[in-house]
Amino acid sequence: METIKENLNYVRNNIKESANKSNRDSEEITLLAVTKTVDVDAVLEAIDNGVTDVGENKPQELARKYEVIGDKVNWHLIGSLQTNKVKYIIDKVHMIHSLDRQALCEEIQKRAEKIDRTIDCLVQVNISKEESKHGLEEKDVIEFIKEVSTNYKNIRIKGLMTMAPFSEDENEVRTVFKGLKNLSLEIDKLNIHNVFMDYLSMGMSNDYQVAIEEGSNMVRVGTSIFGKRNYN
Ligand SMILES: *Cc1c(COP(=O)(O)O)cnc(C)c1O
Repeated sequence: METIKENLNYVRNNIKESANKSNRDSEEITLLAVTKTVDVDAVLEAIDNGVTDVGENKPQELARKYEVIGDKVNWHLIGSLQTNKVKYIIDKVHMIHSLDRQALCEEIQKRAEKIDRTIDCLVQVNISKEESKHGLEEKDVIEFIKEVSTNYKNIRIKGLMTMAPFSEDENEVRTVFKGLKNLSLEIDKLNIHNVFMDYLSMGMSNDYQVAIEEGSNMVRVGTSIFGKRNYN
């Protein structure tokens, strides 16, 4: 079995390759190691090998690992977030990738204000319109972002996030990533107060190279670093 270190080298080389292919600097692309179900020792090993950002999809799991590892690494919440779980992560999280509804904004605003923090968030968009996918429909995103800008001063939108469908068809995947990129350009032009299109969080183990070619600067990679997940 390959080690985490070898896997990281492999993924980083692929990131460089895709960046070069699209005339971009790989330094501007953040590799977010997705550590859900991965034990603390393996997370620490990844950090020892240069990982600066990790992603978890369950708030309590993030909180539990944070208690051991702390601020040695930036913690990202990448999964859909229930309002009653916001309290577990509000003082720990570096960025939330799954902002997708008013009720969640309300809760984040309330908790963030209480501890005097501004929370960086990405708006999750369901570009592919798969029913199984969370996130706003593309047509609702701009209005949502304007509302956040006006009403939730402790939430700072830093970009967009999407998940592509699991598909063998590379063109289908590519079209989704292109769609998110175009939407971010459109939003950027509107110059909305406290809204920044700095990050495009797109690309997972099976499609991060395509995502980078289409403009991703934050890839969320789990399996290719830590191996197949064991959910037991
Ligand atoms: C699990 C997960 C990933 C990583 O998936 P891999 O296929 O293991 O790379 C990325 N993004 C989200 C939102 C996830 O839940």
